[in-house]
Amino acid sequence: MTTFKQENVDEYYDIGEELGSGHFAVVRKCREKSTGTEFAAKFIKKRRSKSSKRGVSREDIEREVNILKEIQHPNVITLHDVFENKAEVVLILELVAGGELFDFLAEKESLTEEQATMFLKQILDGVLYLHSKQIAHFDLKPENIMLLNRTVPHPRIKLIDFGLAHKIDFGNEFKNIFGTPEFVAPEVVNYEPLGLAADMWSVGVITYIL
Ligand code: AMP
Repeated sequence: MTTFKQENVDEYYDIGEELGSGHFAVVRKCREKSTGTEFAAKFIKKRRSKSSKRGVSREDIEREVNILKEIQHPNVITLHDVFENKAEVVLILELVAGGELFDFLAEKESLTEEQATMFLKQILDGVLYLHSKQIAHFDLKPENIMLLNRTVPHPRIKLIDFGLAHKIDFGNEFKNIFGTPEFVAPEVVNYEPLGLAADMWSVGVITYIL
């Protein structure tokens, strides 16, 4: 079992406002005391026991952390540090301050074709990088694509949320039912073997939305 820093995260970071939340996680803005740099702290609730339906299992948290540790790309979030206490694991992530692509799109009547392709190119660059490392994201959707700065004419995007991401091992058949209904590939719903191609279905749905 991997252990993370057992020290109190509050000793090293000032924790600020909530940025968003997921199923068993809350993400808050934070500032590293030693450097003044801002980050996003993702507080993931740990599952207490095997039979419990609440919280995230150790195995799933470690998978998310291990995948995050491996990635370094301009269009993908990076991991800075990991802490844990009895109830939670805290991921200190690069802060993406411009909000979700989901909200950006919701505020607009429509995008121009040029704007749509500019987003899509970056999404594909990020996905190509992940796939080159045999990492399938498995939850690509506008809520998990964030803008660095929404006020500039050509916002840069970052893929976030590696909670469902898996390394695709060609020797093993990987099957699972998960994801978000509107974006999920047919092979997920049909409980068939999954691979990197499942992400491309989601990219197709995102392209349609854009
Ligand atoms: P997640 O459970 O990782 O999808 O995070 C839940 C929500 O928190 C996301 O939908 C975002 O709105 C927000 N969020 C997650 N990571 C970051 C980040 N690195 N910077 C800013 N906001 C984030």
